[in-house]
Amino acid sequence: MTFDLHGRTRRLELTDQGLRSFEAVVLEATPDGIVLDRSAFYPGGGGQPPDHGVLLWQGVETRIEGVRKGDDLYLVPAADDPIPPAGTVVRAAVADERRSALMRTHSGLHVLCGVVFRDYGALVTGGNMEPMTARMDFNLPEVPPGFKEAIEDACNAEIAADRRIDVRVLPRAEAFAIPDIIRTATNLVPEGIPEVRIVDIVGLDTQADGGTHVASTKQIGRIKVAKIESKGRGFRRLRIAISD
Ligand SMILES: [Zn+2]
Repeated sequence: MTFDLHGRTRRLELTDQGLRSFEAVVLEATPDGIVLDRSAFYPGGGGQPPDHGVLLWQGVETRIEGVRKGDDLYLVPAADDPIPPAGTVVRAAVADERRSALMRTHSGLHVLCGVVFRDYGALVTGGNMEPMTARMDFNLPEVPPGFKEAIEDACNAEIAADRRIDVRVLPRAEAFAIPDIIRTATNLVPEGIPEVRIVDIVGLDTQADGGTHVASTKQIGRIKVAKIESKGRGFRRLRIAISD
């Protein structure tokens, strides 16, 4: 088992985040889901929703509206679209606008996470995103005056600094020797997985992460802290919006 294999599908997006089209062979297909031998469709996870796109085969188009994770990765076809039979070679395309927006949003959340930990020592307790909007929950008992503006300014300063966002894969023991990894990932990386994928905003934030990210912070655009909500017992929910 390696980090980029889910069931019978090689996950191409984990090693090539810019990949938007690829060829693959259908291993299994029903109206409930299509299993490919290789796929660049992000299947969802870590708060990032699944990709959309199309499969093209023999002059026919099958729209893909999501991905279901089981023993295999099942690409979910649009209702009533034709299904390519097992053995078919398909040309697949990932919807670029949605995925690129999600990459900017996901990287923006890591900037937020890095800034809030560095400046306030607060840990993340949850998060979720849609293209260009996101929320992240922090364990933060006190909200100091000017918090919202200070966070927004600090995030945008990190974007302006154009920090590199590196992805690398490390043996488990080496990954867990990075102090920051333990704070975010001890419960997220199952026992028995020998390799861990690391997303590193160089100098700001290092996490074990399976998501797709832009190559440097400037590509995120601008972060606006739209709202801070109190969720009781010291938990705060920050809502952010990404723009150009
Ligand atoms: Zn992430």
